[in-house]
Amino acid sequence: MNIQIDSLTHIFKNGKPQRIALEDISLEIKSGQFTAIIGPSGCGKSTLLRLAADLIQPTAGGIRIDGHSPAQARKSGEIAWMAQSPALLPWLTAQQNVTLAQKFLRADRHPRISAGQALKRVGLGDVENAYPFTLSGGMQQRLALARLLALDAGLWLMDEPFAALDEITREKLTAELLNLWQPLQPTVLWVTHNYYEALRLADRIIVITPSPGRIAADGDISLPRPRREDQPEFQLHLAALRDIMSRSALPQDAQ
Ligand code: ADP
Ligand code: MG
Repeated sequence: MNIQIDSLTHIFKNGKPQRIALEDISLEIKSGQFTAIIGPSGCGKSTLLRLAADLIQPTAGGIRIDGHSPAQARKSGEIAWMAQSPALLPWLTAQQNVTLAQKFLRADRHPRISAGQALKRVGLGDVENAYPFTLSGGMQQRLALARLLALDAGLWLMDEPFAALDEITREKLTAELLNLWQPLQPTVLWVTHNYYEALRLADRIIVITPSPGRIAADGDISLPRPRREDQPEFQLHLAALRDIMSRSALPQDAQ
């Protein structure tokens, strides 16, 4: 799905003073692109994803997803969401959690992948009848990943999905996620504040500055996959990204 963002501004008016979470963001994201959105805590990353998912409405400007509004894209089952918390229903088994999401979020359209297949692809084929509380944190995120896959959506909105996991599990899951993404090529918006993760995963990295959230940098990452941190090109990109982030981490009015 192609995403077109035009002069998007979002102001939270409930606080005192009002907070400009995002200001005048314009972007075009090509279908099938894996884009990392990176920036310090509070810079508006989650707000951007929530706007794209039709969970909140922008103060000004807009988002089009393949020419449709986020509300239309969501209703036609084209948006799948994954966040730090797996948001599983504790009284349903792994398989039931996935099928319920398919039933409600896909509406009347049939996904090309069954709940059982999705669970197998994330390595949970053996525990399809287990309840979430019997699964480790890493397995619960795998289950959330199976649910995402099973929705068969064209746009994956992923808000720091592995941020709460230990480093080893996190690296393993990001590598597996790439293997799941590559054959399907949905458009991915991946929010992170981790340089390594952004560089390991993304075709493109967009850096957002805080207060107000604006685009500080936007670049394509043409490193071949699989990427390894010990590759010299990886290190060069890492140094450049660090530099941009350190210069843009201060609120703009303090610079
Ligand atoms: P990030 O995901 O980059 O950490 P957020 O998008 O969650 O940042 O938040 C951006 C800014 O908007 C922050 O300053 C945050 O405090 C503020 N904010 C987020 N959600 C709300 C809300 N529901 N009400 C008021 N302010 C909010
Ligand atoms: Mg956030």
